[in-house]
Amino acid sequence: MRYLKPSSVSEAADVLESSRGMILAGGTDAYVYMAEGFCHPETLIDISSIDTLRGIYVATDDREEEVIRIGACTTIAEIAASQDLPTCLRQGARAVGSPQIRNLGTIGGNVCNASPCGDTLAPLLCLDARFVLRASGGTRVIACEDFFTGPKKTVLKPNEFLEFIELPASSCGKASAFRMIGNRKGQAISQANASVSLVMVDGRMSDLRVAVGSVAPVPLRLGKLEEFLTGKRVKEVSLAMFKEPILEGIRPIDDVRSSASYRQEVTVALVFDALAECASKDSGECEGAGA
Ligand SMILES: Cc1cc2nc3c(=O)[nH]c(=O)nc-3n(C[C@H](O)[C@H](O)[C@H](O)COP(=O)(O)OP(=O)(O)OC[C@H]3O[C@@H](n4cnc5c(N)ncnc54)[C@H](O)[C@@H]3O)c2cc1C
Repeated sequence: MRYLKPSSVSEAADVLESSRGMILAGGTDAYVYMAEGFCHPETLIDISSIDTLRGIYVATDDREEEVIRIGACTTIAEIAASQDLPTCLRQGARAVGSPQIRNLGTIGGNVCNASPCGDTLAPLLCLDARFVLRASGGTRVIACEDFFTGPKKTVLKPNEFLEFIELPASSCGKASAFRMIGNRKGQAISQANASVSLVMVDGRMSDLRVAVGSVAPVPLRLGKLEEFLTGKRVKEVSLAMFKEPILEGIRPIDDVRSSASYRQEVTVALVFDALAECASKDSGECEGAGA
């Protein structure tokens, strides 16, 4: 096996183009797959030391809009600790594995691994994230909503890697929360997770986005629930009212971690709890990248 460590994104893109190797970031998923024989890459392209792939800062995107830009190799621990990011993403990052995993693992790895139970995916979907994909010929931008195509499957082409994640600057002005449930505390993979972001206007829910993970082959937005809740006061809604629009939207399965029926029940409670947290605080919860 060849091991390459490019020092810039353009070098990484060129190496990927010519070798069609496998990108390596923190290795917390990749080394497991190699050890278990799920993949046998001829070339490993380690992007973890490329400085420009790390950090959280304000930038202008391809539409000339202000965004919070997160380098793909920013570690999960850095995401969890950042005051410049919305709460739901920080809470999702805090739910990932152990301190060792969070220190090595990257947000780009969590996204590109595309596990339905990845703990940063529902937060990114609920924050309307966009992904900047890099190839030797240039970049293209894709909405989080369109990135995942199935368990461990994405629209990434063999010659592309994730360079940045971008969040609308307005996501910092919203209240947001993430909830997950696992079999036990510490290192437990989500049996289900949920993320909510909203703005309260005169006590009513507005600009609401709800996303759930581990209950379908890809993270899902719950459009019907968003419609149902928009304009309502939190006190007007009950768990029972939630059930139908949530169950219509999700497609959980039985697996080693949980039964489909348990996932259905618990997702309703997780969304309700996340919503209650959002409603309990003022909007405008993060300091803004670079502040
Ligand atoms: C013990 C343990 C516990 C864990 N617990 C959790 C948990 O609770 N929640 C959770 O969500 N995850 C968990 N994970 C999974 C893992 O730690 C995360 O998914 C992590 O964020 C992966 O990041 P990484 O940098 O290590 O990715 P890597 O292992 O380096 O890469 C993962 C995959 O993504 C690809 N890739 C990485 N970066 C890019 C990029 N920039 N562009 C294109 N492709 C890329 C690689 O080719 C590979 O296919 C756990 C893993 C372990 C071993």
